[in-house]
Amino acid sequence: MEIEVKSKDENEIVFIIRDAEVPFINAIRRIAMMEVPKLAIEDVNIVQNDSAMFNEVLAHRLGLTPLVSNLDAIDGMEMAYECDCEDYCPRCSVSFTLNKTGPGVIYSKDLVSTDSTIKPVYDTIPLLKLKENQNVELEAVAKIGLGKEHAKWMPTTVCAYKQYPKITFNEDSEVNYDLADVCPRNILKSDKRSKVLKVQNIENCSMCKACMRADENNYIDISFEPENFIFKIETDGSIPPEEVLSKACDVLNEKTDKFITFSKN
Ligand code: SF4
Ligand SMILES: [Zn+2]
Repeated sequence: MEIEVKSKDENEIVFIIRDAEVPFINAIRRIAMMEVPKLAIEDVNIVQNDSAMFNEVLAHRLGLTPLVSNLDAIDGMEMAYECDCEDYCPRCSVSFTLNKTGPGVIYSKDLVSTDSTIKPVYDTIPLLKLKENQNVELEAVAKIGLGKEHAKWMPTTVCAYKQYPKITFNEDSEVNYDLADVCPRNILKSDKRSKVLKVQNIENCSMCKACMRADENNYIDISFEPENFIFKIETDGSIPPEEVLSKACDVLNEKTDKFITFSKN
């Protein structure tokens, strides 16, 4: 198997995997979304909330606020359900406090963490609005969890693959230059001088087949390479995308080890 990184930034990675099979790629996709642990606010103790927002809605908003959960930040922490404490402790959780008086908008940066490395990823997520003299005071406890338990623990906002597109032309048919105008993604370019239809940036082809439908002479054929894939992982900023990928591979490894041990016994 070969992997080629096409683009990478803080929150997004796009790569091509060659010589692989759908079940393997799909296992990585599902594990990256559902079984890579991250921190999210789970318990909220509200002391006072004078705002127009119901306590439940405020707690839900806090739960969906992305928190820094990269490997360094959560190193040594345990999953909440594996910890032997009664409710929560520093081994399995991080506490935040919020105490503000209006008027004004309360942002994610107003959450004060007990751990200097663990804080909201973005400072400017609006949480609620307070009118003059309205007060909000609460303690929020973040715990490590998995996306399969609740969407707030999903590190990925996009985690998808497609098979590598394949565009072929029927040399026996007449070149149909009009197909270049049909393609919504500018994949096809008519080159009347050299009497061909050129393909550019094939990885961007969505395989919508609009060109095939418009082609009465069966000049173009759209298919895919069954063993090659374009994979994209975008995260909410809590974990870098390459860490999500590497953790997903570790989890898959553990699962296969368990399966092998089980089948031997
Ligand atoms: S399948 Fe769709 S995106 Fe791909 S070349 Fe044809 S029209 Fe363009
Ligand atoms: Zn604990």
